[in-house]
Amino acid sequence: MDQATTAMARLIKALAKLPGIGEKTAARLAFHVVRAPEEYAKDLANALLEVKARMRLCSVCCNLAESDPCPNCSDTHRKDEMICVVEEPRDLLAMERAREYRGRYHVLHGALSPIDGIGPEDIKVKELLARLGGDRVKEVILATNPTVTGEATALYLSKLIKPLGVKVTRIAHGVPVGGSLEFVDEVTLGKAIENRREL
Ligand SMILES: [Zn+2]
Repeated sequence: MDQATTAMARLIKALAKLPGIGEKTAARLAFHVVRAPEEYAKDLANALLEVKARMRLCSVCCNLAESDPCPNCSDTHRKDEMICVVEEPRDLLAMERAREYRGRYHVLHGALSPIDGIGPEDIKVKELLARLGGDRVKEVILATNPTVTGEATALYLSKLIKPLGVKVTRIAHGVPVGGSLEFVDEVTLGKAIENRREL
């Protein structure tokens, strides 16, 4: 049998496509699965298929969730007057871990990056603007990452949103420049949102 088409080679190749997983780690994970009880492999395979079948975009905030509207959007204890804008669903999770914020969210699914050909129409900007009609939303907190693309996105959004009469704030520094929200500890992230500044 051709080495590259064995089940093991296929598994390693598939695992190596995951972000942050190189060939070596992929091989280590594949051998782990082979040695584990059959039940584990079945659970893993089912979890992968189920997550694909069940996760969808929330039609309000564009977060990925099993329900539409997602749990954040349907939570009646959250404040409607604030929307915290993040780049990715994992950034939303990081904000939630900080337990500082009790408003609504909006997930952009990326950041503006002209160099990579990513413009406003490629991320969920239009969906965000649609939520700002009427006067329910009083503040938009820009919690895009402190990277070149995250800052450019924050600047772009603030220019679009301010003329609508909505207060625009940016999370404070303390989130390391060039870093991603998801790797920031809860205390720092809590402070970053508490000390946000108006743009
Ligand atoms: Zn939602």
